[in-house]
Amino acid sequence: MKYTTVIRTIDSFEVVQNAILRLTVDNFSQVKSREQLIDEHKRLDNICDKKKYVVHNINKQENLTLNIQLRISISNLKVNNVPTGRFLLCRVISKFVKLFALLALVEDPEGNVERLALYNWTKEGQSNIKSIDQLFLSIGTLLVIKNISYEVATSNITIIRSNNPDDVIVVDHNNKLFDDVKWSTNEKKVEIKNADDFRRCGNDYFASSNYIAAIDKYSNGIKLEPQNVTLLNNRAEAYLRLYQFHNAFKDTEIALMYDPNNLKAAYRKGKALCGLKHYKDATNTLQNLYQRMKGNTSIKQIMKHAEMLSYENKNGKYDYLRIIDEFHERSKIKKDSKGNDVWIYETGPRLDHAEFLNDNIQIDLVEGKGRGWIAKCDIPEYTLLMVSKAFKVVFSNEVFGTMISNTSNDKGASSCAEELTTCITRKLFEEPYYCPEVYQLYNGLNLSRNEKIEIIRKNSIHIELIIQALMHNNIGLNYDEFNLKTEITGLGLWTLPSFFNHACIDENVYNFFLGDLLFIRTNRPISKGEELIINYRNATTFSYEERLSYLKCINIDCQCRMCKLERSESQEIKLRMAQLLKAYHESIYPKVSKPHSVEPSHIKELEYLIAELRSLRKEHPDLGFNTIELSNTLAFAYLKIGNNKKALSILKEVYDLYKTFRVSEIRIIILDIIIINSKLKLFEEAKKWFDIMLKILVEPIMGKLEDDKPEWRKEALRLTEKIHPQMNSIAETLNIV
Ligand SMILES: [Zn+2]
Repeated sequence: MKYTTVIRTIDSFEVVQNAILRLTVDNFSQVKSREQLIDEHKRLDNICDKKKYVVHNINKQENLTLNIQLRISISNLKVNNVPTGRFLLCRVISKFVKLFALLALVEDPEGNVERLALYNWTKEGQSNIKSIDQLFLSIGTLLVIKNISYEVATSNITIIRSNNPDDVIVVDHNNKLFDDVKWSTNEKKVEIKNADDFRRCGNDYFASSNYIAAIDKYSNGIKLEPQNVTLLNNRAEAYLRLYQFHNAFKDTEIALMYDPNNLKAAYRKGKALCGLKHYKDATNTLQNLYQRMKGNTSIKQIMKHAEMLSYENKNGKYDYLRIIDEFHERSKIKKDSKGNDVWIYETGPRLDHAEFLNDNIQIDLVEGKGRGWIAKCDIPEYTLLMVSKAFKVVFSNEVFGTMISNTSNDKGASSCAEELTTCITRKLFEEPYYCPEVYQLYNGLNLSRNEKIEIIRKNSIHIELIIQALMHNNIGLNYDEFNLKTEITGLGLWTLPSFFNHACIDENVYNFFLGDLLFIRTNRPISKGEELIINYRNATTFSYEERLSYLKCINIDCQCRMCKLERSESQEIKLRMAQLLKAYHESIYPKVSKPHSVEPSHIKELEYLIAELRSLRKEHPDLGFNTIELSNTLAFAYLKIGNNKKALSILKEVYDLYKTFRVSEIRIIILDIIIINSKLKLFEEAKKWFDIMLKILVEPIMGKLEDDKPEWRKEALRLTEKIHPQMNSIAETLNIV
């Protein structure tokens, strides 16, 4: 089944198959032994599709004739290349499992092992159906496969792909054609017998950071001895390393049931609770543990960390300066041996800070919009409403080439979307505990209440729901707002913030990203019962057409003032506005922006143009965003002919008209006012505007500045030093602080 999302078509079956492959594969980059690959493949057994299908006829050719010279070895296959005219001779060495394709491991005579994916072998049907079991192309079957391709399925997982069942020929045992071919491998079996063998084997994998393999071994041991606390503890730690906090938590709970005083289990439980965002419980668990283990520095450290998380979560108070530093530290990138970008800090800029939710807001039904966030009481300006940690975020440099997009060079939003879908599907496979969090989101599918309840109750993978929920709720990362000096882009899912509805202007909350944390504050005073509204696509940056096509994809019929106005404007007015703006850019701007003198007649021309643009929207003077830039140019033209007063009054007029919209153009206007005032040695006036600018930059992050306290400017400048250092240079020239 294919789904068209906002940006691309996603094949849902491939997404699930990729997610499952990643789930069962240990280390992506490592060269693996035959045994390791077989182990990985066995894990698919738990997740594969057990339904019965109509299976394509197996192609046996008794009188097979082939030119043996055209045989290709697995080691000679090249990714994304079809070796025309060649065939692969291979032997099946594992059971076939059904995901989207039929998957098994095969070896060639040289002993190379690879995954084989047979596509188009099955279809759903009523009669003549069978299951894909041991008997289907059983272990030891010799196959000749023509027209294969070699592909990257996902991450660095390669597969040999065959699309046509007629290309797969089972070689009869009586066939003499390959009699002279020597097979280099003999299956060796490492016999593992008891739980302790599994523990040791798991520990070896753990030591080499092979956590998926380690979990597999520990799980085998736990099957033999369900009360083995050491195995449970070890598996919990391996889960923690993979950020599977719920799985880790479950293991520590069982371990503590059998051995209530087990210190390791308590320690790991504390860590798992932090990851599960149960900050208070985590703090209690770790404080108790520390009481019993006074002086243990690593327990003390994690306890302090849990206390910090609890504090942030309870009070909504964050150390922004520190978090910005952490962001910079963790988003550093280096090149690996193959020249690819990798994080210096293993997990990239995913920041370990707590979530926060203001008690004074709630999700409720909003007429004509579905659900939305509503204020339960009056809320002051710049109040922190929410801090949300990404359910999952994909940074653009983490996108691998996959079978669907097939382009590791395409690091744009579309491949991020595909990667995010695969990652979230994988996460839900690993920990079904998180299914309700995704399934409760708006998905545009019009499921009945009962259907929805049933899906959530089952807690199983529902790929259509995942894809649709992501399409409607994913949020693109944007660090531009605060000049965080990073090239990183990406896409993520933040579950609670996705309940904020959109408006192109007049939004009353303000959002910004630090790493994978999304902070949301009010940007003006809010009254009780008012809906809290965010901005997905800004009316000053995106044209009406751009906004409309985006919003249509996610089922939003925007009723903001700007959309209403633009809908009502006649084609004639739209055309005239476009003409005027074109005239400005092509003819007037080059004339009035000359470095030295300006002809008064050109100034007149520009003034006439601005006046006409404004008259076209005379009913809504405050929505004439398209004149901001023109007015700024006009002010500078007056400055050049020595009329400073006129220049300042133009800029102030623009500021007064558009200050409530907080668009980035306004910041430039204020900056110009500061610069002109200080040039004119009007320092008091310059300082006044400097303070206005400082607040615009700092309050959305730190909250309302207490400007009756003498220290406020110093505090604000500590922040701008990190995000807008030019403010600190201006402060110096103006002798502020
Ligand atoms: Zn709108």
